[in-house]
Amino acid sequence: MDVIDLRSDTLTQPTDEMRQAMASAEVGDDVYGEDPSINKLQERSAEMLGKEAGLLMTSGTMSNLVAALTYCHRGDEIVMGDQAHMFWNEGGGASALAGAQIRLVPNDDQGRMSPADVEAAIRPSGNVHVAPTSLVCLENTQNRCSGGVLTPEDTAKIGRVAHAAGASVHLDGARLFNAAVALEVPAKELVKDVDDVSFCLSKALSCPVGSVLCGTSEFIENANRWRKMVGGGMRQAGVLAAAGLVALDTMIDRLADDHANAHRLATGLANINGLTVDPESIQTNIVIFEVDPALGPSAKLISALDSEDVKVSSPGPTSIRMVTHRHISNEDVEETLSRTSKVVQSLR
Ligand SMILES: *Cc1c(COP(=O)(O)O)cnc(C)c1O
Repeated sequence: MDVIDLRSDTLTQPTDEMRQAMASAEVGDDVYGEDPSINKLQERSAEMLGKEAGLLMTSGTMSNLVAALTYCHRGDEIVMGDQAHMFWNEGGGASALAGAQIRLVPNDDQGRMSPADVEAAIRPSGNVHVAPTSLVCLENTQNRCSGGVLTPEDTAKIGRVAHAAGASVHLDGARLFNAAVALEVPAKELVKDVDDVSFCLSKALSCPVGSVLCGTSEFIENANRWRKMVGGGMRQAGVLAAAGLVALDTMIDRLADDHANAHRLATGLANINGLTVDPESIQTNIVIFEVDPALGPSAKLISALDSEDVKVSSPGPTSIRMVTHRHISNEDVEETLSRTSKVVQSLR
């Protein structure tokens, strides 16, 4: 029986074309700004997103951290959604290393924050009692909200209230291209109202390593100093950038297949008695569903699925996450549904 690994799209392996590009990449010392492949990737990324400049990062976590370091002084506040990856899954880096206090605003099911909530949460500088809000963070797609998508209008609304109050807006766009493909809009449209954006090459785009942070030239210049301080100044990392360039050429359009598979997966899961998910709410490649407490905690179903060679992850004690990606075929979706149905029956 084949293992079907739905834990994350980070599991994707580099393509043959990427491996060839990596093997023959022109490289130089990037700390001197002399790696032609990295320079090309950074320029290409910035151009695709309508920003002035880009900076290759080791990971999405480093990108988000460097954004926080670049915008915030110690004791500043960052406003973000209560389901934000930056809050849940990045080791508290923005607090521990950037010295910023995190203020959470509710995310709805699709990962949106209400502009009124954000406006009310932002606090001005000039009062010694208050941690001033220097940054608002958005996430698109929203990982913990089943890969929910923010439209250009959703983003513009938050941009307006943040900018009116003098705060900058950072977009954690780890899966930005999934959002662009789902909405059928250029990625550029999704980031025009944010000051900077980070996207991951290492997730569904199938690269082995890397994220790119894009923003104004001034922001990137400052970010480059922080990247060096946190140890992200790499040398001949053009081998990584070469894979990134292939990804931008070949891996974006195919994300629609992952989305179609996720939708079919959700539709099948919704038909299994004891599992709850609204297939119409699944817009991209992340399916999060609830497990009826009568079946026990989700950990029990997860380990039963594991014995059937279906690997999944868990965002919480009553929920399970399945992520579709380039190594999950139509047949894998059918097979996942049949194994899941069998396992759920065995738990009754
Ligand atoms: C994966 C992810 C990150 C972090 O990226 P890494 O490269 O794993 O550090 C940040 N934000 C979101 C929304 C993610 O899904």
